[in-house]
Amino acid sequence: MNFEESLRENVALAAMTTLGIGGAARYFADVGTTEALRAGIEWARSRRLPLFVLGGGSNIVVADSGFPGLVLRMSIGGIETRDLGDQVLVTAGAGEEWDSLVERCVANNWAGFECLSGIPGRVGATPIQNVGAYGQETSETLTSLQALDLVTGNVVELNAVDCEFGYRTSRFKTRDRDRFVIARVTYRLTVNGKPAVRYPELQGFLAERGVNDPSLADVRDAVLTIRRRKAMVIDPADADSRSVGSFFVNPVVTVDELERIRHRLACEELPVFPVSEDHMKLSAAWLIERAGIQRGYAHGNVGTSTKHALAIVNRGGGTAREVIQLKELILRRVLDLFDIALATEPVFIGFESSA
Ligand SMILES: Cc1cc2nc3c(=O)[nH]c(=O)nc-3n(C[C@H](O)[C@H](O)[C@H](O)COP(=O)(O)OP(=O)(O)OC[C@H]3O[C@@H](n4cnc5c(N)ncnc54)[C@H](O)[C@@H]3O)c2cc1C
Repeated sequence: MNFEESLRENVALAAMTTLGIGGAARYFADVGTTEALRAGIEWARSRRLPLFVLGGGSNIVVADSGFPGLVLRMSIGGIETRDLGDQVLVTAGAGEEWDSLVERCVANNWAGFECLSGIPGRVGATPIQNVGAYGQETSETLTSLQALDLVTGNVVELNAVDCEFGYRTSRFKTRDRDRFVIARVTYRLTVNGKPAVRYPELQGFLAERGVNDPSLADVRDAVLTIRRRKAMVIDPADADSRSVGSFFVNPVVTVDELERIRHRLACEELPVFPVSEDHMKLSAAWLIERAGIQRGYAHGNVGTSTKHALAIVNRGGGTAREVIQLKELILRRVLDLFDIALATEPVFIGFESSA
């Protein structure tokens, strides 16, 4: 379908997001080809309308007033593979479901994605925040991506270094936010490779079950089971999964800052995970609970998940306004108690125009 055929007016966005909150897009179209994408961009530009590129809607908070421009949902499909002997290059269209791709690669015994099982959303969004979980990140396997540069109008090929990946971030979330629309992503996986079992919680889970030499499928199953317990896989029967996943990023601090925080708290129990010789990752969930916002905390029709303080959930009939209020409360409490400014993970859309 070309762009004009797909174009619709006043389309409710809430149902296209995992949080299930937010108003309507003034204009909306699904784009399944780069030609349709280009046509959509031109259409919005000629009308001076703001543009938003949507994937699976699992990492966005849409304002109650909606979005006053054109939302293009990336639906470019297709998966191609290139055999390199003990490695394989997998190129997927931005609109492919991420977890279906993971499932397929694990079934083929291709290592590199197994710990990223169960993460909702589409392929095109995985480079945006360098999607990661249970000790694995997109940046470890991504070799290149194809994107439309909205500044030059050219289709460009960027490699992993060009993407400037960091912990839950990349150039697409920082200096080049909203500049590139990702059309395809290529990953390099290891044929018959060993699974990555680096994350203590995953190691413990497998050890408890006596799985000493796990297969990729064992690790996928383990990750899915652990995630389900925390409502971190989308399950319509589990109201706690009506979220954007983690709402806050685990803060990374220097060893000196850590000492200062410990001193301030007069305790040693603060859980820390080393990221480098002089940097430590703190648990945002622990900080939030310590700051008095427990699991299951309610704020109007939203609240924290009953299984995880890091997730803000829509308990039914929630509004973006309530989400923002709860977010602000959490940020303030953690700042007051620990002097740590937590960063938020999701992307906020339509808030510039709302009251
Ligand atoms: C239950 C749950 C669990 C989650 N667990 C994790 C986790 O373990 N680890 C993790 O990292 N994330 C996690 N997330 C967050 C989310 O699933 C990921 O960030 C995912 O990659 C978002 O994909 P999406 O297609 O839904 O993107 P969307 O939410 O639609 O968009 C997110 C951002 O990416 C941009 N974008 C999307 N597609 C493109 C494209 N093709 N080109 C350019 N920009 C684009 C959008 O403009 C927006 O800025 C979780 C979310 C939920 C609801």
